[in-house]
Amino acid sequence: MTELPRLPAQGGCSNAPILKQRGQREVFCGLTGIIWLHRKMQDAFFLVVGSRTCAHLLQSAAGVMIFAEPRFGTAILEETDLAGLADAQAELDKVVDQLLARRTDIKQLFLVGSCPSEVIKLDLSRAAERMTEKYAPSVRVLNFSGSGIETTFTQGEDACLASMVPVLPKTDTRQLLLVGALPDVVEEQAVSLLEQMGIGPIKVLPAPRADTDLGIGENTVFALTQPFLGDTHGALERRGARHLPAPFPFGEEGTTAWLRVIADEFGVDADTFERVTAAPRARARKAISQASEALRGKTIFFFPDSQLEIPLARFLTRECGMEAIEVGSPFVHKGIIGSDLEMLAQGPVISEGQDVDLQLDRCRAARPDLTVCGLGLANPLEAEGLATKWAIELVFTPVHFYEQAGDLAGLFSRPVRRAGLLKVEAAE
Ligand code: SF4
Repeated sequence: MTELPRLPAQGGCSNAPILKQRGQREVFCGLTGIIWLHRKMQDAFFLVVGSRTCAHLLQSAAGVMIFAEPRFGTAILEETDLAGLADAQAELDKVVDQLLARRTDIKQLFLVGSCPSEVIKLDLSRAAERMTEKYAPSVRVLNFSGSGIETTFTQGEDACLASMVPVLPKTDTRQLLLVGALPDVVEEQAVSLLEQMGIGPIKVLPAPRADTDLGIGENTVFALTQPFLGDTHGALERRGARHLPAPFPFGEEGTTAWLRVIADEFGVDADTFERVTAAPRARARKAISQASEALRGKTIFFFPDSQLEIPLARFLTRECGMEAIEVGSPFVHKGIIGSDLEMLAQGPVISEGQDVDLQLDRCRAARPDLTVCGLGLANPLEAEGLATKWAIELVFTPVHFYEQAGDLAGLFSRPVRRAGLLKVEAAE
């Protein structure tokens, strides 16, 4: 029999007070989500309506990808647009006409709002409606905001997926919907494990193509694969779908608990569950125990970045033997990460939002063995002798489910080992 995850006494951090701070922030805006979403959705194009700053951000975040005719770009608002001298809607129509004439492979076009487009109150949702009528049925035009005013980093994916939910067709089929953009190999593993238990039909949001027969309705149950999907969660519930709350599938324990919630919903018996999961669980446990050697007994401090922080702290403390000092998240949505909070032993400060100077003071005072933060803080903290893990890598690297559990632990143990080696070298 599979043992149930061991719960810490008194419901873990479920009722822990949350330190809420608002001040200077060191985070990405939601535009960065486009970098992984455009690879996942193969017939979509993301047109950011923004400034040169937004174009620069995309270029530097996408790195070499910009040379491969990617499916994203920026319609740059010029001074005449900003000053209200030009009709920005007419300008946008022109840009979209040109784009769709040149790129006939595009089936979904996202008009992505930015800080400048929001500040001048450019109505992109009206533009999207108008364009949907104009280009139907070959192209669907949608709109979401990736601006720094409204969104932090992975929330861009949330805004994008949430914008798709209202236009999905209705279906009464009893089905499981997996929600969240995962690398293809990871998604295949998840679907395969569930199918081996006899669960189906399984659909995925975002679907790889616009014409996939993805519908939604009251007989749809959905499981989130990413913790940052609060708006999408709300949009799906408004369409009648039911959420299956579960810990997120990081590590052996998280993956098993996530699968178990779905298996229970679909009436999978204990023997089947055991038969399907026993071997991958054993592989995951072995890989984690090897990769986490350097982590045992070490302390960790999370700056807020992606909303993955709480589930990852749960994995690192329970499966890799680390001690969490502070777990910062841009947002804490208890309906979504409640199961992870429950499994996280009491002790760490749970913080939401950021006042970066105050948080840096806390981090320096605690001198953790490992600090998870963005690149803006990583090198300065390294210079102060603190080992860091760059948080964005956790969003780009395949880290979910059993087969990636060892790699996930490895992402954290590498900087700890390197810091240890550098200390030895310095002492010699
Ligand atoms: S959307 Fe806002 S925060 Fe993001 S790059 Fe553009 S101006 Fe900067």
